[in-house]
Amino acid sequence: MLHTPRRHDPQVRINTVHKQDFRLARILHERRSMATVLAPQRALYSLHDVTPAKEALVFAALDHLRSLGLTRLALLVVPDFHGRADLRAFPAFCAQLRRALLPGDEILLHGYYHLADAQPQNAGHKLASTFLTAGEGEFLDLRYEVARQRLSDGLNVLQEALDVRPTGFVAPAWLQNAEVRRAVADAGLAFCEDQLRIWPSHGAPILSPALSFASRTPVRLWGSLAAAEFTSRALPRLPVSRVAIHPNDYRSPHLRTAIARVVTRWQAQTISSRYEEVLS
Ligand SMILES: [Zn+2]
Repeated sequence: MLHTPRRHDPQVRINTVHKQDFRLARILHERRSMATVLAPQRALYSLHDVTPAKEALVFAALDHLRSLGLTRLALLVVPDFHGRADLRAFPAFCAQLRRALLPGDEILLHGYYHLADAQPQNAGHKLASTFLTAGEGEFLDLRYEVARQRLSDGLNVLQEALDVRPTGFVAPAWLQNAEVRRAVADAGLAFCEDQLRIWPSHGAPILSPALSFASRTPVRLWGSLAAAEFTSRALPRLPVSRVAIHPNDYRSPHLRTAIARVVTRWQAQTISSRYEEVLS
């Protein structure tokens, strides 16, 4: 007589469990695929320190980034770099910059002077602004009223010189405080950022560590090259990765090569985006 499998038969139970596992795995796989479609990994590319004081390097960087296929770039413009490069006094630079813009680009306000003038509020700030940034942490110790005024002045300079209204603010060296963040929101800007996060003016901060290179000394340069090799592979696993490129990076052929490597790698793995796409 043939053996007819029954529900309580151990073999039947094993087959049923396998079928359930398979179905569950398929559902999870479909959900994961759907999540990838709905929330793709995005990348933000920015060029810092856009100022007539670094004109040749700024346009060398722009040419290079365009040659890598970047058409969505955040340009971080400084209204009056170190008090000696007021955009309004450099109409030829401004005209060339406007000609270089593509429809997917955006302009962000990047400090005003890019130089600290307020007294550091504590020893940690003093250390950060002198050792880490060569005194460029302009907004680190600004109180609300001063920050609010300086943002308003900066927006006016960019309006007058470039006829643009920036969408967001990036403090020089990414150094700012909570009062500055409040002033940014009150100035009608949609966001600011530091090295670890993007701070929407309305909404929770978004974790997005930024990859950048150091070029001030050979030790820092080689250290940042080694770190970039690791971080450029790790960061695209996050929903939003950022890379910050500086005109001074283009003083080193090694950094130029490293930038090309990161941009090429990220373009294959992520969707180059505008800030408004990651804020919504
Ligand atoms: Zn800067």
